[in-house]
Amino acid sequence: MNTLYQKFIDKDLQDILERRVKTSSTRPIVVGTGITSSHLGDERNLREFVLADAIVACLRSYGKNVIFLLFDDSYDPLNFRQLRVAVDKDEQLIKKFEKYCGTPIKLIPDPFNCHDSYADHFQSKILERFHHLDIYPNMIDSHSSYHSGLYDFAKEIVFTRMEEIKDFLKKKFPNYHMKKIFWPLCPTCSKLDESEIDNIEGKKISISCKRCMTQHITTTEKIKGKFSWKVDIAVKWNIFKSDFEPFSKAYLDPDVGSYFIAKSLSEEFFGGHYPEIIEYGQVFMDRELSYTLLPSLPREIFDLLFLDHRKKDMKLSKQKIIQVAKQYEVRKDMTYFDYIQILLPYENLEYLSSDISPFERNQITNYGNKFTKLILKKDIYPKLPTQKTMGEIDKSSLQQIHKLIDWVVRYKNTHPKVKFETYLEHFKEFFTIHHMSRAHLFPLVRGMFAQEHSSPLSRILYYIPDQFLYATLFLVERHLKESE
Ligand SMILES: [Zn+2]
Ligand SMILES: [Zn+2]
Repeated sequence: MNTLYQKFIDKDLQDILERRVKTSSTRPIVVGTGITSSHLGDERNLREFVLADAIVACLRSYGKNVIFLLFDDSYDPLNFRQLRVAVDKDEQLIKKFEKYCGTPIKLIPDPFNCHDSYADHFQSKILERFHHLDIYPNMIDSHSSYHSGLYDFAKEIVFTRMEEIKDFLKKKFPNYHMKKIFWPLCPTCSKLDESEIDNIEGKKISISCKRCMTQHITTTEKIKGKFSWKVDIAVKWNIFKSDFEPFSKAYLDPDVGSYFIAKSLSEEFFGGHYPEIIEYGQVFMDRELSYTLLPSLPREIFDLLFLDHRKKDMKLSKQKIIQVAKQYEVRKDMTYFDYIQILLPYENLEYLSSDISPFERNQITNYGNKFTKLILKKDIYPKLPTQKTMGEIDKSSLQQIHKLIDWVVRYKNTHPKVKFETYLEHFKEFFTIHHMSRAHLFPLVRGMFAQEHSSPLSRILYYIPDQFLYATLFLVERHLKESE
């Protein structure tokens, strides 16, 4: 297990994990999470999944078999707001699909015509995103669960004990009101947002739909539809034996929070199984960052962002992202932020003069380029000294700079693969031997290479590729000659 995960498993979390693992030693441990395939949201909802994935990794490192489930509420009705985000505000698609608002997502065609249904389309987009982050859950499609009969035992309980369930909720959670316990699917218009059960008499159920103004008589066995969400999760916990699920505070209010209501319903009516709470803080995000983080940050940075102080609410801002980029080391002694500032501009040029396609470049290069463009909103090009920048430096200083760069190139060529620390010692020695002042020369060299930020110049020179140093030497020599 990596050290970040070790740090992230605090005492509190360790106790929660051990408590449940002890009582379920003979079966695989189940970690559950949830999505909706109504649209593909931005990065603010990723915390739940990064957290769940870290729990899965921890349990596996203890030698446990773990099943990582991703429940998709595909039986839920689509709403207009979700549709707008899903089709990226495309007016034509909105017009074509708004008639499906109120219909279960699984029963709507794919707006982009590449999958069997709307739900299938976004399920595959969501999985694609998770795979990109090295998160590999198993999708459980809620409509398929109902369709295949997994919920039948619970339907029988609900339709025979409906009033009892209502009374139970009223007594135990007086501040909470459940609108409908079951949402029937209208056989005429296939919507379920405005249909309801009017009466249950033995096995006979009457339903009515305000969408198409029809009434139907059906039976407890034939009726289609889904449970209200809190009942649904109570049943789901008992079917899939979920052991751990991440919840934000919004679900954990003792009076009206979904977790405690579902837990009580499970204990009283559906079998008594419930998962342990893995609590996490809510994520707020500056709107301008939406959809920019996934392409710009490697998974490890999401770990740093989301796992540290997992219960604390957090705000993702440009400043916060830069701060974490300065913590994450892409290689020994080099942070992601330094890499982007110092090395990336030159690496890009090396790629330009090579046969490597952009897809085969190393991942960090691709992330770094997106980070530069989407987060820093600039292009970083490496700079060679110009007549103007060199003209501002006095002749004797420029001669010293030439001497320094000449030494760096020769040193790197005669000491291939030298460690930075060893090079640094010799670098310092060079200044002492030649009675040169770093305090005087460094700002001048920084100006020449347009490397004005805070990374040490010794490091910048160490990383600048040779071609650049040779070109610099040539330009400095020419400038010195011309100004004689
Ligand atoms: Zn599709
Ligand atoms: Zn209807």
